[in-house]
Amino acid sequence: MDPQEAKARAWATIDHLESELIEISHAIHARPELCYEEHFAAHTLSSALQRHGIEVEAPAFELPTAFAGRSGTTGPHVIICCEYDALPGIGHGCGHNIIGTAGIGAGIALASLAGHLGGRVTTLGTPAEEGGGGKLRLLERGAFADADAAMMVHPEPANVEMVPYLANETLVITMHGRAAHASSSQLAGINALDALVLGYQGATVLRTNLRRDERVFGIITNGGAADNIVPAEATARYRIRARSKDRLDGLRARLTECFQGAARQLGATCTIESLGGYLDVRANRTLAAAFRVNAEMLGRHFLDPGTIPIEVAGSTDMGNVSYELPVIHPVLDVGTRCAGHTIEMTAASITSNADRCLLDAAKAMAATVIDFWTRPELRDQVSAEFSTISQGRR
Ligand SMILES: [Zn+2]
Ligand SMILES: [Zn+2]
Repeated sequence: MDPQEAKARAWATIDHLESELIEISHAIHARPELCYEEHFAAHTLSSALQRHGIEVEAPAFELPTAFAGRSGTTGPHVIICCEYDALPGIGHGCGHNIIGTAGIGAGIALASLAGHLGGRVTTLGTPAEEGGGGKLRLLERGAFADADAAMMVHPEPANVEMVPYLANETLVITMHGRAAHASSSQLAGINALDALVLGYQGATVLRTNLRRDERVFGIITNGGAADNIVPAEATARYRIRARSKDRLDGLRARLTECFQGAARQLGATCTIESLGGYLDVRANRTLAAAFRVNAEMLGRHFLDPGTIPIEVAGSTDMGNVSYELPVIHPVLDVGTRCAGHTIEMTAASITSNADRCLLDAAKAMAATVIDFWTRPELRDQVSAEFSTISQGRR
């Protein structure tokens, strides 16, 4: 089958599915579920794949809310990532109802073409992007092991094929002092809270000396047990971000020194535990360009990636995937100028523009997978670019 004809068929399938996909997106939006608790969303998405004749493994990879729908038996293998977790308090303020539904739209559209075109596609349900690191668990368990590329589309206020995402890490910082009566034996104590606050102030000064692509943000989660006891222990939780893993290592060292230095000044001790985090996204420029061409055919106008300020960058667990295989994480315009993780974005995620965003995302991904399946020179370029970037990282 001619690739252009295949794309036309995929887009016709998505047009045919329009009302079903929009209904699914809105149903997931109406029932927001947090990290690893996305039972309704995972079931709704995976059963839609099954309804359209796709063989589905659910749950998958020992994660109750992950699933994998597979089509095709031989040839280049592309994974389409679905996200569908929400945020505490504000529901789908990151628009993951759009991401998950776009993924299954593409998966269904590609299912009947895989055999004809000699390619494979897996529609992978990836839970817990918002801090739970679902894709890290999936990577550990081999979900991406035999894939040649992976992709997803995130709703944002603009169309851009390559957006910067920062590496991040969460740190739990604990000051250890000595408890004592706050009045009668104050001098016998070592005030862990004082040491922590001193470190916090150091970190706040550090923040004024960061590069534009670095972030330090923290909260105090434990400041003592009673107002008549010198605190023996006090705890803070920090999230640090930087443009690459190496730069994140440097930033962690600087933050660590703020708190270790404060501990030394007051005779306390400090322990720092990493809860892990996400790597930066190394998007594949070649595959992103192919995606852009397909999305432009849908009438979308793209911003030059160079015009996106680093100040608006967030982080995603797709970053870790991008260190293992060629990945794209383009964004499509959801039709609003509001920021992510806000109630305004929650409202924006089920408008008619949001519905258009999900349909276009499904179509552009399906067309890009068809390109990848049918253009060996594109695959060679994608993998050559990936090898070059990987070598640069060593
Ligand atoms: Zn988010
Ligand atoms: Zn998101």
